[in-house]
Amino acid sequence: METEKKDIRALTKEQLRNFFVQQGDKAFRGNQVYEWLWQKSAHDFDAMTNISKETRKMLEDNFVINHIRVDQMQRSSDGTIKNAVRLHDGLVVESVLIPTQTRTTACVSSQVGCSLDCRFCATARLKRMRNLNPDEIYDQVVAIDNESRLYFDRPLSNIVFMGMGEPLMNYNNVLKAIDKITSPEGLGMSPKRIVVSTSGVPKIIKKMADEEVKFGLAVSLHSAIDEVRTSIMPFNSTFPLKDLREALEYWYSKTKNRITYEYVVWKGINDTQEAADALVKFCKFAPSKVNIIEYNPIDEGEFQQANGDAVEMYQKTLERNGITVTVRRSRGKDIDAACGQLANKN
Ligand code: SAH
Repeated sequence: METEKKDIRALTKEQLRNFFVQQGDKAFRGNQVYEWLWQKSAHDFDAMTNISKETRKMLEDNFVINHIRVDQMQRSSDGTIKNAVRLHDGLVVESVLIPTQTRTTACVSSQVGCSLDCRFCATARLKRMRNLNPDEIYDQVVAIDNESRLYFDRPLSNIVFMGMGEPLMNYNNVLKAIDKITSPEGLGMSPKRIVVSTSGVPKIIKKMADEEVKFGLAVSLHSAIDEVRTSIMPFNSTFPLKDLREALEYWYSKTKNRITYEYVVWKGINDTQEAADALVKFCKFAPSKVNIIEYNPIDEGEFQQANGDAVEMYQKTLERNGITVTVRRSRGKDIDAACGQLANKN
């Protein structure tokens, strides 16, 4: 029986160098192949033109390159691009390129589906199928960087982990991907241009703080009142606000990095003064700012965007208390590329 070939991209540079030494070749060959895999994004061994035919054949016999494939690309009328990305085992995730005047942001997925059950999010309905590998996350970023250069004539400038999945439930792989993205041997991007968004897993937030990571942290809060939050984000009963708050205070004490809270205001759920006051109180635990995001409907009206007055009430309440707040418009709604809409519809 043929043994299953190993994904060559699961090897570190050191392991790849050792492999060549074991083969009686030079360690330096490992560097060359590594460069093909990570800087030149080779999809197959035959692309490695400075490697001899025999060596390429030997690699072919031992390894596979599990590269992602962009199956379908959709463009929104506002310039947003959504990629349907096929993985080596046939599963599909989505990633999004969001252009503005000055930036190109990649919104990437960390899991196929999601294990959380946020009632307002389309991805939650897919359930979690599996975690993405570090290279599957990295490849999404490279694909968007290429599209940014092709369509907007500039490299990718920012990355947000706000696609499918809960990044802190796949923390090790997300961290490995970020290492590659920020390494000079990968894309050489600054970690300051990367934001990881989470529904809030206290233990992992503390771990990130201990590791003094350099990327930004966003928390999808949506309510600072436990009963309300649990009713729309049921996992809040496992990780209540008290634990989240404690982890966030710890995060700030270690990293001195301000936290961003993402917040949607819904009719009849959190559109009251009391809810806004609770948010203000929560924001005071650790330096933070609030992004109020528009609701992107995914259902038959169980959740509805609150009216403009309620959003204005939030804005005023936060500002009066010295908390920075921005109100964001959705991008890519017409192609189901906006927050919470990623569900492999096509
Ligand atoms: N699991 C991570 C990252 C993915 S969600 C997290 O929870 O942060 C990215 C953002 O979109 C989150 O803030 C999420 O709460 C928000 N979101 C989910 N569904 C939405 C919807 N239908 N409309 C607007 N925002 C939504």
